[in-house]
Amino acid sequence: MEHESVDYFRDRAAAWLTANRQHAPRDYGAICPPDLINEGASWQRLIFDAGFAGIHWPVEHGGQGLSPAHHGAWVEECAKAGVPPVLNMVGLVLAGGAVMAFGSEEQKSQHLLSTLNADHVWCQLFSEPGAGSDLGSLSTKAERDGDRYIINGQKVWCSGGRCSNWGILMARTNPDAPKHEGISFFLVPMNLPGIEVVPLRQMTGESEFDEVFFTDVELPAEYLIGPLHGGWGVGMAVLTNERGHIGASVISLERRLESMSALGRGHGLNPSQRDELVTLLSTGIAYKAMAQTQGPIASTASSLMKLGITEMMFGVSMLRGNISGADAMLEGPDSVGMTSAPGGRIAGGSSQVQRNIIGERLLGLPREPK
Ligand SMILES: Cc1cc2nc3c(=O)[nH]c(=O)nc-3n(C[C@H](O)[C@H](O)[C@H](O)COP(=O)(O)OP(=O)(O)OC[C@H]3O[C@@H](n4cnc5c(N)ncnc54)[C@H](O)[C@@H]3O)c2cc1C
Repeated sequence: MEHESVDYFRDRAAAWLTANRQHAPRDYGAICPPDLINEGASWQRLIFDAGFAGIHWPVEHGGQGLSPAHHGAWVEECAKAGVPPVLNMVGLVLAGGAVMAFGSEEQKSQHLLSTLNADHVWCQLFSEPGAGSDLGSLSTKAERDGDRYIINGQKVWCSGGRCSNWGILMARTNPDAPKHEGISFFLVPMNLPGIEVVPLRQMTGESEFDEVFFTDVELPAEYLIGPLHGGWGVGMAVLTNERGHIGASVISLERRLESMSALGRGHGLNPSQRDELVTLLSTGIAYKAMAQTQGPIASTASSLMKLGITEMMFGVSMLRGNISGADAMLEGPDSVGMTSAPGGRIAGGSSQVQRNIIGERLLGLPREPK
Protein backbone atom coordinates (compact mmCIF):
# COMPACT_ATOMS: atom_id res chain seq x y z
CA MET A 1 0.00 0.00 0.00
CA GLU A 2 1.23 3.50 -0.86
CA HIS A 3 1.95 5.58 2.29
CA GLU A 4 0.60 9.08 2.55
CA SER A 5 3.44 11.60 2.10
CA VAL A 6 5.14 13.04 5.18
CA ASP A 7 3.90 16.53 4.26
CA TYR A 8 0.30 15.38 3.94
CA PHE A 9 0.57 13.48 7.22
CA ARG A 10 2.11 16.54 8.90
CA ASP A 11 -0.82 18.73 7.82
CA ARG A 12 -3.31 16.14 9.03
CA ALA A 13 -1.50 15.86 12.39
CA ALA A 14 -1.30 19.65 12.80
CA ALA A 15 -5.03 20.04 12.08
CA TRP A 16 -5.93 17.32 14.59
CA LEU A 17 -3.67 18.86 17.22
CA THR A 18 -5.23 22.30 16.73
CA ALA A 19 -8.66 20.76 17.30
CA ASN A 20 -7.63 18.58 20.26
CA ARG A 21 -4.74 20.20 22.10
CA GLN A 22 -7.06 21.43 24.86
CA HIS A 23 -7.38 17.79 26.00
CA ALA A 24 -3.61 17.41 26.51
CA PRO A 25 -1.83 17.73 29.85
CA ARG A 26 0.97 20.34 30.02
CA ASP A 27 4.05 19.36 28.01
CA TYR A 28 6.03 17.41 30.62
CA GLY A 29 8.89 16.14 28.47
CA ALA A 30 9.89 12.50 28.16
CA ILE A 31 8.33 10.94 31.24
CA CYS A 32 4.87 11.65 32.60
CA PRO A 33 5.16 12.76 36.25
CA PRO A 34 3.02 10.80 38.75
CA ASP A 35 0.63 13.72 39.39
CA LEU A 36 -0.32 13.88 35.69
CA ILE A 37 -0.59 10.16 35.02
CA ASN A 38 -4.39 10.08 34.60
CA GLU A 39 -4.40 13.02 32.18
CA GLY A 40 -1.36 11.56 30.37
CA ALA A 41 -3.09 8.18 29.94
CA SER A 42 -6.32 9.82 28.66
CA TRP A 43 -4.24 11.84 26.17
CA GLN A 44 -2.48 8.68 24.97
CA ARG A 45 -5.89 6.96 24.49
CA LEU A 46 -7.14 9.94 22.49
CA ILE A 47 -3.99 9.86 20.33
CA PHE A 48 -4.48 6.11 19.85
CA ASP A 49 -8.18 6.44 18.89
CA ALA A 50 -7.30 9.18 16.40
CA GLY A 51 -4.67 6.99 14.69
CA PHE A 52 -1.56 8.89 15.82
CA ALA A 53 -0.08 6.30 18.22
CA GLY A 54 2.77 3.99 17.20
CA ILE A 55 3.16 5.83 13.91
CA HIS A 56 6.11 3.73 12.72
CA TRP A 57 4.99 0.54 14.50
CA PRO A 58 3.49 -2.39 12.54
CA VAL A 59 -0.25 -2.25 11.87
CA GLU A 60 -0.77 -5.77 13.27
CA HIS A 61 0.36 -4.51 16.68
CA GLY A 62 -1.86 -1.44 16.73
CA GLY A 63 0.59 0.93 15.00
CA GLN A 64 0.09 3.00 11.86
CA GLY A 65 2.70 1.21 9.69
CA LEU A 66 4.26 4.51 8.57
CA SER A 67 7.94 5.51 8.52
CA PRO A 68 10.24 7.03 11.18
CA ALA A 69 10.02 10.28 9.15
CA HIS A 70 6.24 10.36 9.74
CA HIS A 71 6.88 9.77 13.44
CA GLY A 72 9.43 12.65 13.37
CA ALA A 73 6.79 14.93 11.85
CA TRP A 74 4.35 13.98 14.63
CA VAL A 75 6.94 14.78 17.33
CA GLU A 76 7.65 18.15 15.68
CA GLU A 77 3.99 19.08 15.37
CA CYS A 78 3.39 18.14 19.02
CA ALA A 79 6.35 20.32 20.03
CA LYS A 80 4.90 23.24 18.06
CA ALA A 81 1.50 22.68 19.70
CA GLY A 82 3.18 22.42 23.13
CA VAL A 83 1.75 18.97 23.92
CA PRO A 84 3.47 15.66 24.83
CA PRO A 85 3.80 13.39 21.74
CA VAL A 86 3.39 10.21 23.81
CA LEU A 87 2.35 9.31 27.32
CA ASN A 88 5.74 8.08 28.36
CA MET A 89 9.05 7.54 26.63
CA VAL A 90 9.80 4.47 28.79
CA GLY A 91 6.84 2.59 27.33
CA LEU A 92 6.77 3.87 23.78
CA VAL A 93 10.53 3.99 23.19
CA LEU A 94 12.28 1.65 25.65
CA ALA A 95 9.82 -1.14 26.49
CA GLY A 96 8.15 -0.96 23.07
CA GLY A 97 11.55 -0.91 21.35
CA ALA A 98 12.76 -3.92 23.37
CA VAL A 99 9.59 -5.95 22.69
CA MET A 100 9.60 -5.05 19.00
CA ALA A 101 13.27 -5.97 18.49
CA PHE A 102 13.70 -8.89 20.92
CA GLY A 103 10.23 -10.08 21.97
CA SER A 104 8.56 -13.37 21.04
CA GLU A 105 5.29 -13.22 19.08
CA GLU A 106 3.41 -13.79 22.37
CA GLN A 107 5.24 -10.89 24.01
CA LYS A 108 4.48 -8.64 21.03
CA SER A 109 0.78 -9.54 21.19
CA GLN A 110 0.68 -9.08 24.94
CA HIS A 111 2.42 -5.71 25.12
CA LEU A 112 2.56 -3.62 21.95
CA LEU A 113 -1.11 -2.74 21.47
CA SER A 114 -1.59 -2.45 25.25
CA THR A 115 1.30 0.02 25.41
CA LEU A 116 -0.10 2.15 22.60
CA ASN A 117 -3.56 2.38 24.20
CA ALA A 118 -2.08 3.10 27.67
CA ASP A 119 -3.31 -0.11 29.30
CA HIS A 120 0.33 -0.93 30.06
CA VAL A 121 2.26 1.94 31.63
CA TRP A 122 5.98 1.20 31.96
CA CYS A 123 8.88 2.11 34.22
CA GLN A 124 12.59 1.44 33.81
CA LEU A 125 14.32 -0.67 36.49
CA PHE A 126 18.01 -0.40 35.56
CA SER A 127 19.93 1.87 37.99
CA GLU A 128 20.96 0.67 41.44
CA PRO A 129 22.67 2.41 44.36
CA GLY A 130 25.98 0.81 43.22
CA ALA A 131 25.34 0.76 39.46
CA GLY A 132 24.47 3.89 37.46
CA SER A 133 27.05 4.90 34.84
CA ASP A 134 28.65 1.52 35.37
CA LEU A 135 25.37 -0.32 34.83
CA GLY A 136 27.24 -3.58 34.14
CA SER A 137 28.00 -3.77 37.89
CA LEU A 138 24.32 -4.25 38.77
CA SER A 139 23.71 -6.77 41.53
CA THR A 140 19.94 -7.39 41.61
CA LYS A 141 19.69 -11.17 41.21
CA ALA A 142 17.28 -13.29 39.19
CA GLU A 143 17.77 -16.97 40.12
CA ARG A 144 16.06 -19.68 38.11
CA ASP A 145 13.81 -21.94 40.20
CA GLY A 146 11.72 -24.33 38.09
CA ASP A 147 9.39 -22.33 35.84
CA ARG A 148 10.13 -18.97 37.46
CA TYR A 149 12.92 -16.60 38.48
CA ILE A 150 13.30 -15.41 42.06
CA ILE A 151 14.25 -11.72 42.10
CA ASN A 152 16.09 -10.05 45.00
CA GLY A 153 17.71 -6.62 45.08
CA GLN A 154 17.13 -2.87 44.89
CA LYS A 155 16.64 -0.40 42.06
CA VAL A 156 16.73 3.39 42.35
CA TRP A 157 15.81 6.55 40.34
CA CYS A 158 12.86 4.70 38.84
CA SER A 159 10.85 7.47 37.16
CA GLY A 160 7.12 6.98 37.67
CA GLY A 161 7.53 3.54 39.29
CA ARG A 162 4.47 3.97 41.51
CA CYS A 163 2.14 4.76 38.62
CA SER A 164 3.36 1.99 36.30
CA ASN A 165 1.86 -1.46 36.01
CA TRP A 166 4.84 -2.94 34.10
CA GLY A 167 8.61 -2.51 34.37
CA ILE A 168 11.65 -3.38 32.26
CA LEU A 169 14.23 -4.95 34.54
CA MET A 170 17.91 -5.76 34.12
CA ALA A 171 19.08 -8.38 36.63
CA ARG A 172 22.03 -10.72 37.12
CA THR A 173 21.31 -14.31 36.11
CA ASN A 174 24.91 -15.63 36.12
CA PRO A 175 27.13 -14.24 38.90
CA ASP A 176 30.12 -16.32 37.70
CA ALA A 177 30.28 -14.91 34.16
CA PRO A 178 32.20 -11.70 33.24
CA LYS A 179 29.93 -8.89 34.43
CA HIS A 180 28.34 -7.91 31.08
CA GLU A 181 27.73 -11.54 30.15
CA GLY A 182 25.69 -12.56 33.19
CA ILE A 183 22.77 -10.11 32.89
CA SER A 184 19.26 -10.81 31.56
CA PHE A 185 16.36 -8.54 30.62
CA PHE A 186 12.84 -9.07 31.99
CA LEU A 187 9.33 -7.66 31.67
CA VAL A 188 7.90 -7.40 35.18
CA PRO A 189 4.30 -6.86 36.36
CA MET A 190 4.71 -4.25 39.12
CA ASN A 191 1.93 -5.79 41.22
CA LEU A 192 3.83 -9.02 42.02
CA PRO A 193 4.09 -9.81 45.75
CA GLY A 194 7.50 -8.76 47.14
CA ILE A 195 7.84 -5.55 45.05
CA GLU A 196 7.89 -2.43 47.23
CA VAL A 197 7.92 1.04 45.64
CA VAL A 198 9.11 3.95 47.81
CA PRO A 199 8.98 7.58 46.51
CA LEU A 200 12.12 9.79 46.65
CA ARG A 201 11.96 13.56 47.09
CA GLN A 202 13.98 15.78 44.72
CA MET A 203 15.47 19.24 45.29
CA THR A 204 12.62 20.70 43.19
CA GLY A 205 10.30 19.57 46.00
CA GLU A 206 8.61 17.12 43.63
CA SER A 207 8.68 13.37 43.86
CA GLU A 208 9.00 11.86 40.40
CA PHE A 209 11.33 8.95 41.22
CA ASP A 210 11.03 5.82 43.31
CA GLU A 211 13.26 3.28 44.95
CA VAL A 212 12.04 -0.23 44.14
CA PHE A 213 12.83 -3.15 46.44
CA PHE A 214 12.52 -6.79 45.31
CA THR A 215 12.23 -9.44 48.01
CA ASP A 216 11.83 -13.04 46.83
CA VAL A 217 9.67 -11.90 43.92
CA GLU A 218 8.48 -14.87 41.86
CA LEU A 219 8.57 -13.95 38.17
CA PRO A 220 7.27 -16.48 35.60
CA ALA A 221 10.16 -17.62 33.36
CA GLU A 222 8.34 -16.55 30.18
CA TYR A 223 8.83 -12.89 31.19
CA LEU A 224 12.49 -13.11 30.16
CA ILE A 225 12.99 -11.14 26.93
CA GLY A 226 15.89 -11.74 24.55
CA PRO A 227 18.57 -14.36 25.23
CA LEU A 228 19.25 -15.67 28.74
CA HIS A 229 22.43 -13.88 29.98
CA GLY A 230 22.18 -11.68 26.83
CA GLY A 231 20.36 -8.80 28.55
CA TRP A 232 23.29 -6.41 28.16
CA GLY A 233 22.72 -6.29 24.39
CA VAL A 234 18.98 -5.67 24.89
CA GLY A 235 19.70 -2.93 27.45
CA MET A 236 22.25 -1.15 25.26
CA ALA A 237 19.87 -1.20 22.30
CA VAL A 238 17.08 0.43 24.31
CA LEU A 239 19.42 3.00 25.89
CA THR A 240 20.55 4.08 22.44
CA ASN A 241 16.85 4.56 21.60
CA GLU A 242 16.50 6.65 24.75
CA ARG A 243 19.43 8.93 23.86
CA GLY A 244 18.06 9.35 20.35
CA HIS A 245 14.72 10.33 21.85
CA ILE A 246 16.24 12.82 24.31
CA GLY A 247 18.20 14.31 21.41
CA ALA A 248 14.95 14.66 19.46
CA SER A 249 13.70 17.18 22.01
CA VAL A 250 15.69 19.75 20.00
CA ILE A 251 12.47 21.01 18.42
CA SER A 252 10.91 21.99 21.71
CA LEU A 253 14.29 23.39 22.70
CA GLU A 254 14.30 25.81 19.80
CA ARG A 255 10.84 26.95 20.86
CA ARG A 256 12.28 27.61 24.32
CA LEU A 257 15.20 29.51 22.86
CA GLU A 258 12.82 31.69 20.88
CA SER A 259 10.84 32.51 24.01
CA MET A 260 14.13 33.18 25.82
CA SER A 261 15.23 35.75 23.29
CA ALA A 262 11.82 37.46 23.56
CA LEU A 263 12.19 37.50 27.36
CA GLY A 264 15.71 38.91 27.04
CA ARG A 265 14.51 41.76 24.82
CA GLY A 266 11.84 42.61 27.37
CA HIS A 267 14.29 42.76 30.27
CA GLY A 268 17.24 44.49 28.61
CA LEU A 269 20.20 42.10 28.79
CA ASN A 270 23.66 43.15 29.84
CA PRO A 271 26.46 42.47 27.29
CA SER A 272 27.59 39.22 28.91
CA GLN A 273 24.03 37.83 29.07
CA ARG A 274 23.51 38.84 25.45
CA ASP A 275 26.69 36.99 24.47
CA GLU A 276 25.55 33.91 26.34
CA LEU A 277 22.12 34.02 24.73
CA VAL A 278 23.59 34.37 21.25
CA THR A 279 25.88 31.38 21.87
CA LEU A 280 22.94 29.27 23.07
CA LEU A 281 20.73 30.32 20.16
CA SER A 282 23.45 29.58 17.60
CA THR A 283 24.17 26.19 19.14
CA GLY A 284 20.43 25.46 19.19
CA ILE A 285 20.07 26.26 15.51
CA ALA A 286 23.07 24.05 14.66
CA TYR A 287 21.59 21.12 16.63
CA LYS A 288 18.22 21.61 15.00
CA ALA A 289 19.85 21.34 11.59
CA MET A 290 21.61 18.16 12.69
CA ALA A 291 18.38 16.68 14.09
CA GLN A 292 16.55 17.37 10.83
CA THR A 293 19.08 15.39 8.85
CA GLN A 294 18.85 12.47 11.28
CA GLY A 295 15.24 12.37 12.39
CA PRO A 296 14.27 11.49 15.92
CA ILE A 297 15.32 7.85 15.70
CA ALA A 298 18.43 6.59 17.42
CA SER A 299 21.62 6.76 15.45
CA THR A 300 25.34 6.55 16.03
CA ALA A 301 25.24 10.24 16.84
CA SER A 302 22.61 9.87 19.57
CA SER A 303 25.24 10.52 22.26
CA LEU A 304 26.27 13.72 20.49
CA MET A 305 22.68 14.96 20.38
CA LYS A 306 21.94 13.87 23.95
CA LEU A 307 25.02 15.66 25.27
CA GLY A 308 24.50 18.81 23.20
CA ILE A 309 20.80 19.25 23.88
CA THR A 310 20.87 18.59 27.61
CA GLU A 311 23.93 20.83 28.16
CA MET A 312 22.18 23.56 26.21
CA MET A 313 18.97 23.18 28.20
CA PHE A 314 21.06 23.49 31.35
CA GLY A 315 22.64 26.69 29.98
CA VAL A 316 19.22 28.14 29.13
CA SER A 317 17.89 27.47 32.64
CA MET A 318 20.93 29.08 34.25
CA LEU A 319 20.76 32.12 31.96
CA ARG A 320 17.06 32.53 32.69
CA GLY A 321 17.87 32.51 36.43
CA ASN A 322 20.71 34.95 35.87
CA ILE A 323 18.42 37.39 34.01
CA SER A 324 15.81 37.24 36.78
CA GLY A 325 18.53 37.88 39.41
CA ALA A 326 17.53 37.47 43.06
CA ASP A 327 13.90 36.78 42.07
CA ALA A 328 15.07 33.41 40.70
CA MET A 329 15.59 32.25 44.28
CA LEU A 330 11.86 32.53 44.97
CA GLU A 331 9.46 29.67 44.29
CA GLY A 332 8.51 29.84 40.61
CA PRO A 333 9.43 28.69 37.11
CA ASP A 334 13.03 30.01 37.29
CA SER A 335 13.89 28.11 40.47
CA VAL A 336 12.13 24.98 39.18
CA GLY A 337 14.11 25.30 35.92
CA MET A 338 17.44 25.66 37.72
CA THR A 339 16.87 22.80 40.14
CA SER A 340 15.53 20.38 37.53
CA ALA A 341 18.06 21.17 34.75
CA PRO A 342 20.95 19.16 36.29
CA GLY A 343 18.84 15.98 36.02
CA GLY A 344 18.79 16.21 32.23
CA ARG A 345 22.58 16.03 32.17
CA ILE A 346 22.46 12.77 34.17
CA ALA A 347 19.36 10.90 32.91
CA GLY A 348 19.96 8.36 30.14
CA GLY A 349 23.75 8.41 30.78
CA SER A 350 25.60 11.43 32.21
CA SER A 351 27.34 14.08 30.12
CA GLN A 352 30.76 12.73 31.13
CA VAL A 353 29.75 9.25 30.00
CA GLN A 354 28.45 10.64 26.68
CA ARG A 355 31.82 12.37 26.19
CA ASN A 356 33.58 9.04 26.76
CA ILE A 357 31.32 7.36 24.17
CA ILE A 358 31.88 10.17 21.65
CA GLY A 359 35.63 10.09 22.22
CA GLU A 360 35.97 6.34 21.95
CA ARG A 361 33.31 5.36 19.40
CA LEU A 362 32.95 8.40 17.16
CA LEU A 363 36.41 9.99 17.32
CA GLY A 364 38.38 6.76 17.74
CA LEU A 365 40.36 8.06 20.74
CA PRO A 366 42.09 5.54 23.02
CA ARG A 367 39.81 3.79 25.49
CA GLU A 368 39.47 5.18 29.00
CA PRO A 369 41.91 3.41 31.37
CA LYS A 370 40.08 0.96 33.64
C1 LIG B 1 15.83 12.71 35.52
C2 LIG B 1 16.36 11.30 35.71
C3 LIG B 1 15.56 10.21 35.41
C4 LIG B 1 16.05 8.91 35.61
N1 LIG B 1 15.19 7.86 35.39
C5 LIG B 1 15.65 6.60 35.60
C6 LIG B 1 14.75 5.49 35.44
O1 LIG B 1 13.55 5.65 35.18
N2 LIG B 1 15.25 4.25 35.64
C7 LIG B 1 16.55 4.00 35.94
O2 LIG B 1 16.93 2.85 36.03
N3 LIG B 1 17.41 5.04 36.15
C8 LIG B 1 17.00 6.32 35.99
N4 LIG B 1 17.84 7.39 36.21
C9 LIG B 1 19.20 7.12 36.72
C10 LIG B 1 20.31 7.41 35.74
O3 LIG B 1 20.35 6.46 34.70
C11 LIG B 1 21.61 7.46 36.54
O4 LIG B 1 21.52 8.52 37.46
C12 LIG B 1 22.81 7.68 35.64
O5 LIG B 1 23.05 6.56 34.84
C13 LIG B 1 24.08 8.01 36.47
O6 LIG B 1 24.29 7.07 37.46
P1 LIG B 1 24.51 7.48 38.99
O7 LIG B 1 23.43 8.44 39.39
O8 LIG B 1 24.68 6.25 39.78
O9 LIG B 1 25.86 8.32 39.00
P2 LIG B 1 27.35 7.71 38.98
O10 LIG B 1 27.45 6.69 37.91
O11 LIG B 1 27.74 7.30 40.36
O12 LIG B 1 28.19 8.98 38.53
C14 LIG B 1 28.63 9.98 39.45
C15 LIG B 1 29.46 11.00 38.67
O13 LIG B 1 30.64 10.36 38.13
C16 LIG B 1 30.71 10.55 36.72
N5 LIG B 1 31.24 9.35 36.09
C17 LIG B 1 30.84 8.07 36.31
N6 LIG B 1 31.54 7.23 35.52
C18 LIG B 1 32.38 7.98 34.78
C19 LIG B 1 33.37 7.69 33.79
N7 LIG B 1 33.60 6.43 33.38
N8 LIG B 1 34.04 8.74 33.23
C20 LIG B 1 33.82 10.01 33.62
N9 LIG B 1 32.91 10.35 34.57
C21 LIG B 1 32.20 9.35 35.14
C22 LIG B 1 29.27 10.80 36.30
O14 LIG B 1 29.21 11.54 35.09
C23 LIG B 1 28.72 11.61 37.48
O15 LIG B 1 29.08 12.95 37.35
C24 LIG B 1 17.38 8.69 36.07
C25 LIG B 1 18.19 9.80 36.36
C26 LIG B 1 17.70 11.08 36.21
C27 LIG B 1 18.59 12.24 36.59
